[in-house]
Amino acid sequence: MTALTLENVSKSFGKVEVLKDIDLTVEDGEFIVFVGPSGCGKSTLLRVIAGLEEATSGEVSIDGEKVNGIPPARRGIAMVFQSYALYPHLTVQDNMALGLKQDGAPKARVAEQVAKAARMLDLEPYLKRRPAELSGGQRQRVAIGRAIVRDPKLFLFDEPLSNLDAALRMNTRVEIAALHRTLKASMIYVTHDQIEAMTLADRIVVLRDGRIEQVGAPMDLYNDPANRFVAGFLGAPS
Ligand code: ADP
Ligand code: MG
Repeated sequence: MTALTLENVSKSFGKVEVLKDIDLTVEDGEFIVFVGPSGCGKSTLLRVIAGLEEATSGEVSIDGEKVNGIPPARRGIAMVFQSYALYPHLTVQDNMALGLKQDGAPKARVAEQVAKAARMLDLEPYLKRRPAELSGGQRQRVAIGRAIVRDPKLFLFDEPLSNLDAALRMNTRVEIAALHRTLKASMIYVTHDQIEAMTLADRIVVLRDGRIEQVGAPMDLYNDPANRFVAGFLGAPS
């Protein structure tokens, strides 16, 4: 099955075309990384997939179903941002439970899913704490936990580690890789970090000025970049 299909997706803000004719297919369970310079449209593309922005033209399909016009909550996706956007007045447990509660899930299911996510992310000791009582890494894990509880088919990560220090970034990267293996969900992950891209991705999508410049397995792009731009991004010797 195909987790995501983008066909001729374009997005304009006023007269400015930010995404231009994007075609991409993501298979079930695939880990896709988007790289590209600041302002090239990575976040906008994630937001179009999530339904936080509507494509100006083109088709977005998730799990074989066209989702243009369908609101984010009904797309079966979860999005994790660099700013954790946790509710400060809610405990870790309640932050993670919120989305499911809003979906109208029965209490037993909410409790079970939160417990499962807490176990997976080593958050069991912190369930009663509030975000202010957690470290940056723990907060980021709560944000990931909040995404996991709804069993999404597709995870979207927008530079989730960019606010963390180097050591924590590495730990969290390893955790995300483990999570991907455990959940077997499809993931799309935006990063500036070459090491994150090379180690996490099944395929890397290089974006430039709203277009896809090249798509391929990390080592293929590294060894055989289409041009100097791609080589520059993936650190291959030129
Ligand atoms: P990236 O995530 O790759 O840094 P973005 O997707 O955030 O890039 O932005 C791509 C371009 O779209 C930028 O030029 C940005 O200014 C513009 N843009 C993004 N969101 C909006 C918006 N809501 N209104 C107008 N322009 C926007
Ligand atoms: Mg961005």
